[in-house]
Amino acid sequence: TEACLSAIEGAGALGAFVHKTPEIARAQAAAADARIKAGDAPSLCGIPMGIKDLFCTKGVPSQSASRILEGFKPEYESTVTSQLFDAGAVMLGKLNMDEFAMGSSNETSTYGNAVNPWRRDGDDTALTPGGSSGGSASAVAADLCLAATGTDTGGSIRQPAAFTGITGIKPTYGRCSRWGIVAFASSLDQAGPMTKDVRDAAILLQAMCGHDPKDSTSADLPVPDFEAMLTGDIRGKTIGIPREYRMDGMSAEIDALWTQGVDMLRDAGAKIVDISLPHTKYALPTYYVIAPAEASSNLARYDGVRYGHRATLASGEGINDMYEKTRAEGFGPEVQRRVMVGTYVLSAGFYDAYYNKARKVRTLIKKDFEDAFAAGVDAILTPATPSPAFGLGEMKDADPVQMYLNDVFTVTVNLAGLPGVTVPTGLDSKGLPLGLQLIGRPWEEGDLLNTAYALE
Ligand code: GLN
Repeated sequence: TEACLSAIEGAGALGAFVHKTPEIARAQAAAADARIKAGDAPSLCGIPMGIKDLFCTKGVPSQSASRILEGFKPEYESTVTSQLFDAGAVMLGKLNMDEFAMGSSNETSTYGNAVNPWRRDGDDTALTPGGSSGGSASAVAADLCLAATGTDTGGSIRQPAAFTGITGIKPTYGRCSRWGIVAFASSLDQAGPMTKDVRDAAILLQAMCGHDPKDSTSADLPVPDFEAMLTGDIRGKTIGIPREYRMDGMSAEIDALWTQGVDMLRDAGAKIVDISLPHTKYALPTYYVIAPAEASSNLARYDGVRYGHRATLASGEGINDMYEKTRAEGFGPEVQRRVMVGTYVLSAGFYDAYYNKARKVRTLIKKDFEDAFAAGVDAILTPATPSPAFGLGEMKDADPVQMYLNDVFTVTVNLAGLPGVTVPTGLDSKGLPLGLQLIGRPWEEGDLLNTAYALE
Protein backbone atom coordinates (compact mmCIF):
# COMPACT_ATOMS: atom_id res chain seq x y z
CA THR A 1 0.00 0.00 0.00
CA GLU A 2 2.78 2.46 0.87
CA ALA A 3 4.62 1.63 -2.38
CA CYS A 4 1.45 2.30 -4.38
CA LEU A 5 0.68 5.51 -2.50
CA SER A 6 4.14 6.87 -3.27
CA ALA A 7 3.94 5.72 -6.92
CA ILE A 8 0.64 7.61 -7.19
CA GLU A 9 2.29 10.77 -5.78
CA GLY A 10 4.95 10.52 -8.49
CA ALA A 11 2.51 9.90 -11.32
CA GLY A 12 0.26 12.94 -11.16
CA ALA A 13 0.91 13.62 -14.85
CA LEU A 14 -1.00 10.46 -15.76
CA GLY A 15 -4.19 11.97 -14.32
CA ALA A 16 -5.33 8.49 -13.31
CA PHE A 17 -6.39 9.15 -9.70
CA VAL A 18 -8.93 11.94 -9.21
CA HIS A 19 -9.48 11.53 -5.44
CA LYS A 20 -6.79 9.94 -3.31
CA THR A 21 -7.77 8.20 -0.08
CA PRO A 22 -4.49 7.50 1.76
CA GLU A 23 -6.08 7.54 5.23
CA ILE A 24 -8.65 4.92 4.23
CA ALA A 25 -5.94 2.90 2.49
CA ARG A 26 -3.68 2.89 5.55
CA ALA A 27 -6.53 1.94 7.88
CA GLN A 28 -7.62 -0.90 5.58
CA ALA A 29 -3.99 -2.06 5.18
CA ALA A 30 -3.54 -2.11 8.97
CA ALA A 31 -6.74 -4.12 9.33
CA ALA A 32 -5.46 -6.50 6.64
CA ASP A 33 -2.17 -6.92 8.54
CA ALA A 34 -4.13 -7.78 11.66
CA ARG A 35 -6.19 -10.37 9.80
CA ILE A 36 -3.04 -11.96 8.36
CA LYS A 37 -1.50 -12.12 11.85
CA ALA A 38 -4.69 -13.70 13.15
CA GLY A 39 -4.46 -16.34 10.41
CA ASP A 40 -7.71 -15.15 8.84
CA ALA A 41 -6.64 -13.68 5.49
CA PRO A 42 -9.38 -13.52 2.84
CA SER A 43 -8.58 -13.67 -0.89
CA LEU A 44 -7.73 -9.99 -1.41
CA CYS A 45 -6.25 -9.30 2.00
CA GLY A 46 -4.14 -6.15 1.75
CA ILE A 47 -4.34 -5.85 -2.06
CA PRO A 48 -4.17 -2.15 -3.01
CA MET A 49 -6.74 -1.20 -5.63
CA GLY A 50 -8.12 1.80 -7.45
CA ILE A 51 -11.89 2.29 -7.79
CA LYS A 52 -13.51 3.85 -10.85
CA ASP A 53 -15.26 7.12 -9.97
CA LEU A 54 -18.60 5.63 -11.16
CA PHE A 55 -18.79 3.48 -7.99
CA CYS A 56 -20.42 5.03 -4.95
CA THR A 57 -17.96 4.81 -2.08
CA LYS A 58 -19.25 5.79 1.32
CA GLY A 59 -18.11 9.24 2.46
CA VAL A 60 -15.68 9.54 -0.47
CA PRO A 61 -16.33 11.85 -3.45
CA SER A 62 -18.02 9.85 -6.21
CA GLN A 63 -18.52 12.22 -9.08
CA SER A 64 -18.68 9.97 -12.16
CA ALA A 65 -16.22 12.53 -13.61
CA SER A 66 -19.11 14.99 -13.98
CA ARG A 67 -19.41 18.56 -12.79
CA ILE A 68 -23.04 17.91 -11.93
CA LEU A 69 -21.97 15.58 -9.08
CA GLU A 70 -19.48 18.07 -7.65
CA GLY A 71 -19.28 17.58 -3.90
CA PHE A 72 -21.41 14.40 -3.88
CA LYS A 73 -20.33 11.98 -1.15
CA PRO A 74 -22.59 8.93 -1.01
CA GLU A 75 -24.03 7.77 2.31
CA TYR A 76 -23.64 4.18 1.15
CA GLU A 77 -21.16 1.78 -0.44
CA SER A 78 -21.79 0.01 -3.75
CA THR A 79 -22.28 -3.75 -3.42
CA VAL A 80 -19.23 -4.51 -5.58
CA THR A 81 -16.86 -2.29 -3.58
CA SER A 82 -18.21 -3.52 -0.25
CA GLN A 83 -17.63 -7.11 -1.39
CA LEU A 84 -14.06 -6.18 -2.38
CA PHE A 85 -13.43 -4.56 1.00
CA ASP A 86 -14.93 -7.58 2.78
CA ALA A 87 -12.41 -9.70 0.83
CA GLY A 88 -9.64 -7.52 2.28
CA ALA A 89 -8.98 -5.10 -0.62
CA VAL A 90 -7.48 -1.68 0.12
CA MET A 91 -8.82 1.44 -1.63
CA LEU A 92 -6.11 3.86 -2.77
CA GLY A 93 -8.56 6.32 -4.33
CA LYS A 94 -11.00 7.01 -7.13
CA LEU A 95 -10.05 6.72 -10.78
CA ASN A 96 -10.62 8.98 -13.76
CA MET A 97 -13.12 8.05 -16.47
CA ASP A 98 -15.27 9.57 -19.18
CA GLU A 99 -18.16 11.62 -17.81
CA PHE A 100 -20.91 9.17 -16.72
CA ALA A 101 -18.91 6.50 -18.62
CA MET A 102 -19.77 8.04 -21.99
CA GLY A 103 -16.75 8.00 -24.25
CA SER A 104 -13.90 5.90 -25.57
CA SER A 105 -10.87 8.10 -24.80
CA ASN A 106 -11.35 9.48 -21.27
CA GLU A 107 -11.51 12.96 -22.84
CA THR A 108 -15.07 13.73 -21.70
CA SER A 109 -14.00 13.75 -18.01
CA THR A 110 -14.59 16.97 -16.07
CA TYR A 111 -11.16 16.43 -14.47
CA GLY A 112 -9.34 16.36 -17.81
CA ASN A 113 -8.19 13.14 -19.40
CA ALA A 114 -6.07 10.34 -17.96
CA VAL A 115 -2.98 9.51 -20.02
CA ASN A 116 -1.75 6.18 -21.34
CA PRO A 117 1.65 5.28 -19.80
CA TRP A 118 2.68 3.78 -23.18
CA ARG A 119 4.27 5.82 -26.02
CA ARG A 120 4.90 5.01 -29.67
CA ASP A 121 8.57 4.19 -30.29
CA GLY A 122 10.54 7.40 -30.83
CA ASP A 123 7.47 9.63 -30.51
CA ASP A 124 6.45 11.49 -27.40
CA THR A 125 2.81 12.14 -28.35
CA ALA A 126 0.57 11.57 -25.32
CA LEU A 127 -1.90 8.77 -26.07
CA THR A 128 -5.35 7.98 -24.75
CA PRO A 129 -5.65 5.11 -22.26
CA GLY A 130 -9.06 4.45 -23.84
CA GLY A 131 -12.39 4.90 -22.15
CA SER A 132 -14.47 5.07 -20.34
CA SER A 133 -12.41 3.23 -17.68
CA GLY A 134 -9.27 5.14 -18.78
CA GLY A 135 -8.02 6.00 -15.30
CA SER A 136 -8.36 2.35 -14.23
CA ALA A 137 -6.39 1.16 -17.27
CA SER A 138 -3.69 3.80 -16.88
CA ALA A 139 -3.26 3.12 -13.14
CA VAL A 140 -2.95 -0.67 -13.56
CA ALA A 141 -0.62 -0.38 -16.58
CA ALA A 142 1.62 2.11 -14.74
CA ASP A 143 1.79 -0.05 -11.58
CA LEU A 144 0.02 2.53 -9.40
CA CYS A 145 -2.20 -0.24 -8.03
CA LEU A 146 -2.41 -4.01 -8.37
CA ALA A 147 -5.89 -3.96 -9.88
CA ALA A 148 -8.83 -1.66 -10.47
CA THR A 149 -12.56 -1.81 -10.91
CA GLY A 150 -14.06 -0.89 -14.25
CA THR A 151 -17.53 -0.80 -15.73
CA ASP A 152 -18.52 -1.78 -19.24
CA THR A 153 -21.67 -0.63 -21.04
CA GLY A 154 -20.32 -0.92 -24.57
CA GLY A 155 -16.65 -1.79 -24.15
CA SER A 156 -15.40 0.46 -21.37
CA ILE A 157 -13.42 -2.30 -19.64
CA ARG A 158 -12.24 -4.16 -22.73
CA GLN A 159 -11.16 -1.26 -24.98
CA PRO A 160 -9.00 0.55 -22.36
CA ALA A 161 -7.50 -2.81 -21.32
CA ALA A 162 -6.48 -3.39 -24.96
CA PHE A 163 -5.02 0.13 -25.28
CA THR A 164 -2.83 -0.28 -22.19
CA GLY A 165 -1.75 -3.92 -22.40
CA ILE A 166 -3.75 -5.22 -19.44
CA THR A 167 -6.55 -7.75 -18.93
CA GLY A 168 -10.20 -6.83 -18.42
CA ILE A 169 -13.37 -8.89 -18.21
CA LYS A 170 -16.99 -7.85 -18.52
CA PRO A 171 -19.01 -10.65 -16.95
CA THR A 172 -22.44 -11.87 -18.03
CA TYR A 173 -25.15 -9.25 -17.45
CA GLY A 174 -26.48 -9.93 -13.94
CA ARG A 175 -23.27 -11.48 -12.57
CA CYS A 176 -22.18 -8.37 -10.63
CA SER A 177 -24.63 -6.24 -8.72
CA ARG A 178 -25.23 -2.80 -10.21
CA TRP A 179 -26.39 -1.45 -6.85
CA GLY A 180 -24.47 1.71 -5.95
CA ILE A 181 -22.89 2.06 -9.40
CA VAL A 182 -24.08 5.25 -11.07
CA ALA A 183 -26.38 4.12 -13.87
CA PHE A 184 -25.57 4.87 -17.52
CA ALA A 185 -27.63 2.35 -19.56
CA SER A 186 -29.12 -0.06 -17.06
CA SER A 187 -29.77 -2.97 -19.45
CA LEU A 188 -26.12 -2.92 -20.59
CA ASP A 189 -24.02 -1.83 -17.56
CA GLN A 190 -21.79 -4.37 -15.82
CA ALA A 191 -18.86 -4.02 -13.45
CA GLY A 192 -15.69 -6.05 -13.84
CA PRO A 193 -12.02 -6.20 -12.87
CA MET A 194 -9.07 -4.66 -14.73
CA THR A 195 -5.87 -6.50 -13.86
CA LYS A 196 -2.35 -7.35 -14.92
CA ASP A 197 -3.22 -10.89 -15.98
CA VAL A 198 -5.94 -13.50 -16.28
CA ARG A 199 -5.31 -15.11 -12.90
CA ASP A 200 -5.77 -11.78 -11.12
CA ALA A 201 -8.96 -11.22 -13.14
CA ALA A 202 -10.31 -14.59 -11.96
CA ILE A 203 -9.53 -13.82 -8.30
CA LEU A 204 -11.00 -10.30 -8.48
CA LEU A 205 -14.13 -11.35 -10.36
CA GLN A 206 -14.77 -14.00 -7.72
CA ALA A 207 -14.91 -11.32 -5.03
CA MET A 208 -16.95 -8.86 -7.11
CA CYS A 209 -19.82 -11.05 -8.27
CA GLY A 210 -22.71 -12.87 -6.65
CA HIS A 211 -26.42 -12.43 -6.04
CA ASP A 212 -27.64 -9.16 -4.54
CA PRO A 213 -31.31 -8.70 -3.63
CA LYS A 214 -30.80 -4.93 -3.96
CA ASP A 215 -30.41 -5.28 -7.76
CA SER A 216 -33.45 -6.93 -9.34
CA THR A 217 -31.40 -7.94 -12.40
CA SER A 218 -28.72 -9.64 -10.31
CA ALA A 219 -28.64 -13.39 -10.96
CA ASP A 220 -29.25 -15.84 -8.15
CA LEU A 221 -26.76 -18.40 -9.41
CA PRO A 222 -23.84 -20.12 -7.71
CA VAL A 223 -20.43 -18.56 -8.37
CA PRO A 224 -17.85 -21.20 -9.27
CA ASP A 225 -14.19 -21.00 -8.21
CA PHE A 226 -12.86 -19.14 -11.27
CA GLU A 227 -9.21 -19.41 -10.32
CA ALA A 228 -9.45 -23.19 -9.87
CA MET A 229 -10.75 -23.39 -13.44
CA LEU A 230 -7.50 -21.97 -14.88
CA THR A 231 -5.88 -25.17 -16.06
CA GLY A 232 -4.77 -23.88 -19.46
CA ASP A 233 -6.28 -27.04 -20.96
CA ILE A 234 -8.55 -26.09 -23.85
CA ARG A 235 -8.23 -29.33 -25.84
CA GLY A 236 -11.45 -30.15 -27.63
CA LYS A 237 -12.93 -26.66 -27.22
CA THR A 238 -14.51 -25.09 -30.29
CA ILE A 239 -13.53 -21.49 -31.04
CA GLY A 240 -15.62 -19.52 -33.54
CA ILE A 241 -14.11 -16.88 -35.80
CA PRO A 242 -16.91 -14.57 -36.94
CA ARG A 243 -16.41 -13.48 -40.53
CA GLU A 244 -18.40 -10.25 -40.06
CA TYR A 245 -15.72 -8.94 -37.71
CA ARG A 246 -13.23 -8.81 -40.57
CA MET A 247 -14.13 -5.19 -41.30
CA ASP A 248 -13.15 -3.03 -44.23
CA GLY A 249 -10.26 -0.79 -43.35
CA MET A 250 -9.08 -2.94 -40.44
CA SER A 251 -5.34 -2.55 -40.04
CA ALA A 252 -3.09 -5.31 -41.32
CA GLU A 253 -1.48 -5.49 -37.90
CA ILE A 254 -4.76 -6.19 -36.11
CA ASP A 255 -5.54 -8.79 -38.75
CA ALA A 256 -2.14 -10.43 -38.22
CA LEU A 257 -2.64 -10.43 -34.45
CA TRP A 258 -6.01 -12.12 -34.87
CA THR A 259 -4.43 -14.85 -37.02
CA GLN A 260 -1.71 -15.28 -34.41
CA GLY A 261 -4.40 -15.72 -31.73
CA VAL A 262 -6.14 -18.35 -33.87
CA ASP A 263 -2.82 -20.22 -34.24
CA MET A 264 -2.17 -20.12 -30.49
CA LEU A 265 -5.57 -21.57 -29.66
CA ARG A 266 -5.26 -24.22 -32.39
CA ASP A 267 -1.79 -25.19 -31.10
CA ALA A 268 -3.29 -25.53 -27.63
CA GLY A 269 -5.70 -28.15 -29.00
CA ALA A 270 -8.83 -26.11 -29.76
CA LYS A 271 -10.88 -26.65 -32.87
CA ILE A 272 -11.24 -23.48 -34.97
CA VAL A 273 -14.42 -22.91 -36.96
CA ASP A 274 -15.63 -20.12 -39.22
CA ILE A 275 -18.93 -18.69 -38.01
CA SER A 276 -21.38 -16.03 -39.10
CA LEU A 277 -22.99 -13.42 -36.84
CA PRO A 278 -25.07 -11.82 -39.60
CA HIS A 279 -26.53 -8.87 -37.65
CA THR A 280 -23.14 -7.53 -36.53
CA LYS A 281 -23.35 -4.55 -38.86
CA TYR A 282 -26.39 -3.23 -37.00
CA ALA A 283 -24.77 -3.41 -33.57
CA LEU A 284 -23.27 0.09 -33.40
CA PRO A 285 -26.42 1.95 -34.51
CA THR A 286 -28.52 -0.26 -32.21
CA TYR A 287 -26.23 0.47 -29.27
CA TYR A 288 -26.20 4.20 -29.99
CA VAL A 289 -30.00 4.27 -29.84
CA ILE A 290 -30.50 2.05 -26.76
CA ALA A 291 -27.65 3.40 -24.62
CA PRO A 292 -28.62 7.10 -25.03
CA ALA A 293 -32.31 6.25 -24.52
CA GLU A 294 -31.59 4.62 -21.17
CA ALA A 295 -29.07 7.32 -20.28
CA SER A 296 -31.54 10.14 -20.91
CA SER A 297 -33.92 8.51 -18.47
CA ASN A 298 -31.25 7.68 -15.85
CA LEU A 299 -29.77 11.18 -15.99
CA ALA A 300 -33.15 12.86 -15.41
CA ARG A 301 -32.43 12.60 -11.65
CA TYR A 302 -29.66 15.23 -11.84
CA ASP A 303 -31.88 18.25 -11.38
CA GLY A 304 -29.87 20.46 -9.05
CA VAL A 305 -32.09 19.54 -6.11
CA ARG A 306 -30.90 16.13 -4.98
CA TYR A 307 -27.20 15.90 -5.76
CA GLY A 308 -24.09 17.95 -6.40
CA HIS A 309 -23.98 21.10 -8.46
CA ARG A 310 -26.77 23.71 -8.45
CA ALA A 311 -26.70 26.80 -10.68
CA THR A 312 -26.93 30.26 -9.16
CA LEU A 313 -30.16 31.96 -10.18
CA ALA A 314 -30.78 35.59 -11.03
CA SER A 315 -33.65 37.27 -9.25
CA GLY A 316 -36.97 36.42 -10.83
CA GLU A 317 -35.75 33.03 -12.11
CA GLY A 318 -37.78 30.00 -11.01
CA ILE A 319 -37.48 26.24 -10.68
CA ASN A 320 -37.47 25.54 -14.42
CA ASP A 321 -34.61 28.00 -14.87
CA MET A 322 -32.81 26.18 -12.06
CA TYR A 323 -33.19 22.79 -13.81
CA GLU A 324 -32.13 24.16 -17.16
CA LYS A 325 -29.17 26.17 -15.94
CA THR A 326 -27.93 23.41 -13.63
CA ARG A 327 -28.05 20.79 -16.37
CA ALA A 328 -26.51 23.12 -18.95
CA GLU A 329 -23.61 23.90 -16.61
CA GLY A 330 -23.29 20.48 -15.03
CA PHE A 331 -23.27 18.17 -18.06
CA GLY A 332 -20.47 18.24 -20.62
CA PRO A 333 -21.12 18.26 -24.39
CA GLU A 334 -21.03 14.46 -24.93
CA VAL A 335 -23.49 13.84 -22.09
CA GLN A 336 -25.79 16.56 -23.43
CA ARG A 337 -25.61 14.96 -26.87
CA ARG A 338 -26.61 11.57 -25.42
CA VAL A 339 -29.51 13.10 -23.48
CA MET A 340 -30.76 14.80 -26.63
CA VAL A 341 -30.43 11.67 -28.78
CA GLY A 342 -32.06 9.57 -26.07
CA THR A 343 -34.97 11.93 -25.57
CA TYR A 344 -35.49 12.08 -29.32
CA VAL A 345 -35.57 8.31 -29.88
CA LEU A 346 -37.97 7.89 -26.95
CA SER A 347 -40.30 10.71 -28.04
CA ALA A 348 -43.86 9.74 -29.01
CA GLY A 349 -43.32 10.48 -32.69
CA PHE A 350 -40.09 8.50 -33.09
CA TYR A 351 -40.34 5.72 -30.48
CA ASP A 352 -41.37 3.03 -32.95
CA ALA A 353 -39.00 4.12 -35.68
CA TYR A 354 -35.91 4.17 -33.43
CA TYR A 355 -36.18 2.78 -29.91
CA ASN A 356 -38.56 -0.07 -30.64
CA LYS A 357 -36.72 -0.94 -33.84
CA ALA A 358 -33.42 -1.00 -31.96
CA ARG A 359 -34.88 -3.34 -29.34
CA LYS A 360 -35.94 -5.76 -32.07
CA VAL A 361 -32.54 -5.67 -33.74
CA ARG A 362 -30.94 -6.24 -30.34
CA THR A 363 -32.89 -9.50 -30.09
CA LEU A 364 -31.57 -10.55 -33.50
CA ILE A 365 -27.99 -9.76 -32.47
CA LYS A 366 -28.46 -11.86 -29.33
CA LYS A 367 -29.92 -14.69 -31.41
CA ASP A 368 -26.85 -14.70 -33.69
CA PHE A 369 -24.75 -15.60 -30.66
CA GLU A 370 -27.29 -18.12 -29.34
CA ASP A 371 -27.23 -19.89 -32.73
CA ALA A 372 -23.44 -20.05 -32.70
CA PHE A 373 -23.38 -21.49 -29.17
CA ALA A 374 -26.17 -23.95 -30.03
CA ALA A 375 -24.04 -25.15 -32.97
CA GLY A 376 -21.31 -26.12 -30.49
CA VAL A 377 -19.11 -23.01 -30.31
CA ASP A 378 -17.59 -22.56 -26.83
CA ALA A 379 -16.01 -19.13 -27.32
CA ILE A 380 -15.60 -16.56 -30.06
CA LEU A 381 -12.28 -14.85 -30.85
CA THR A 382 -12.21 -11.30 -32.29
CA PRO A 383 -9.96 -8.25 -32.15
CA ALA A 384 -10.71 -6.02 -29.14
CA THR A 385 -10.35 -2.71 -30.96
CA PRO A 386 -9.97 -1.60 -34.58
CA SER A 387 -6.70 0.28 -33.80
CA PRO A 388 -4.05 0.71 -31.11
CA ALA A 389 -4.29 3.68 -28.71
CA PHE A 390 -4.61 6.98 -30.58
CA GLY A 391 -3.26 10.41 -29.70
CA LEU A 392 -5.09 12.55 -27.14
CA GLY A 393 -6.87 15.38 -28.93
CA GLU A 394 -6.60 13.58 -32.28
CA MET A 395 -10.38 13.12 -32.52
CA LYS A 396 -11.24 16.57 -31.16
CA ASP A 397 -12.63 17.97 -34.40
CA ALA A 398 -13.92 14.68 -35.76
CA ASP A 399 -17.58 13.80 -36.12
CA PRO A 400 -18.65 12.11 -32.82
CA VAL A 401 -19.52 9.00 -34.83
CA GLN A 402 -15.78 8.53 -35.52
CA MET A 403 -15.29 8.03 -31.79
CA TYR A 404 -18.27 5.64 -31.63
CA LEU A 405 -16.59 3.45 -34.28
CA ASN A 406 -14.02 2.45 -31.66
CA ASP A 407 -16.67 0.30 -30.02
CA VAL A 408 -17.43 -1.77 -33.11
CA PHE A 409 -16.07 -5.06 -31.69
CA THR A 410 -17.28 -4.62 -28.13
CA VAL A 411 -20.91 -3.36 -28.14
CA THR A 412 -22.36 -6.62 -29.50
CA VAL A 413 -21.34 -8.36 -26.27
CA ASN A 414 -23.30 -5.91 -24.08
CA LEU A 415 -26.33 -6.00 -26.36
CA ALA A 416 -26.36 -9.80 -26.02
CA GLY A 417 -25.54 -9.72 -22.27
CA LEU A 418 -22.56 -12.07 -22.73
CA PRO A 419 -19.23 -12.26 -20.93
CA GLY A 420 -16.24 -10.83 -22.84
CA VAL A 421 -12.59 -10.62 -21.92
CA THR A 422 -9.67 -8.72 -23.46
CA VAL A 423 -6.17 -10.16 -23.21
CA PRO A 424 -2.98 -8.38 -24.30
CA THR A 425 -1.52 -10.46 -27.11
CA GLY A 426 1.16 -8.42 -28.81
CA LEU A 427 2.68 -5.09 -29.78
CA ASP A 428 2.22 -3.19 -33.03
CA SER A 429 5.14 -2.02 -35.16
CA LYS A 430 5.37 1.19 -33.07
CA GLY A 431 5.59 -0.80 -29.84
CA LEU A 432 2.01 -0.22 -28.64
CA PRO A 433 -0.02 -2.99 -27.00
CA LEU A 434 -2.81 -4.73 -28.91
CA GLY A 435 -5.47 -6.99 -27.45
CA LEU A 436 -7.77 -9.76 -28.55
CA GLN A 437 -11.27 -10.35 -27.26
CA LEU A 438 -12.86 -13.67 -26.33
CA ILE A 439 -16.65 -13.84 -26.01
CA GLY A 440 -18.17 -16.68 -23.99
CA ARG A 441 -21.43 -18.44 -23.26
CA PRO A 442 -23.62 -16.80 -20.61
CA TRP A 443 -22.55 -17.60 -17.01
CA GLU A 444 -19.43 -19.42 -18.22
CA GLU A 445 -16.85 -16.85 -17.16
CA GLY A 446 -14.68 -19.61 -15.68
CA ASP A 447 -14.42 -21.40 -18.99
CA LEU A 448 -13.89 -18.10 -20.80
CA LEU A 449 -11.09 -17.07 -18.45
CA ASN A 450 -9.46 -20.46 -18.96
CA THR A 451 -9.46 -19.94 -22.74
CA ALA A 452 -8.04 -16.44 -22.18
CA TYR A 453 -5.39 -18.03 -19.97
CA ALA A 454 -4.34 -20.23 -22.90
CA LEU A 455 -3.97 -17.09 -25.03
CA GLU A 456 -1.91 -15.18 -22.48
N1 GLN B 1 -17.61 4.01 -25.62
C1 GLN B 1 -18.95 3.57 -25.37
C2 GLN B 1 -19.84 4.76 -25.10
O1 GLN B 1 -19.36 5.83 -25.16
C3 GLN B 1 -18.97 2.59 -24.24
C4 GLN B 1 -18.90 3.21 -22.91
C5 GLN B 1 -19.00 2.23 -21.80
O2 GLN B 1 -18.85 1.02 -21.97
N2 GLN B 1 -19.28 2.77 -20.63
O3 GLN B 1 -21.00 4.64 -24.84
